[in-house]
Amino acid sequence: MHRTCGHCGIVFERERGYFMMSVFVGYVMSFFVVIPVLVGLYVTIRPSMNGYLIGAIVALVLAIPLIFHYARVVWLHLDELMDPRPNPPA
Ligand SMILES: [Zn+2]
Repeated sequence: MHRTCGHCGIVFERERGYFMMSVFVGYVMSFFVVIPVLVGLYVTIRPSMNGYLIGAIVALVLAIPLIFHYARVVWLHLDELMDPRPNPPA
């Protein structure tokens, strides 16, 4: 990940551990991946409990790169919305 925005120059990581909150965002985002997969499995093949578990794990493993990336993006936007930077460098 770049340290600063190539367009406006803001430093993405405001403070040490800034992106720790993106872990929680990613946790919520993972529900949006897993629940549709579980519902899809339920309405189609109705697997055993292990089938649901395997389906959820496979869906999550495949979605980890996207979740990791977009959790940070969503967190950056949420934080900017709640606590805007006072003087954005031009
Ligand atoms: Zn920018």
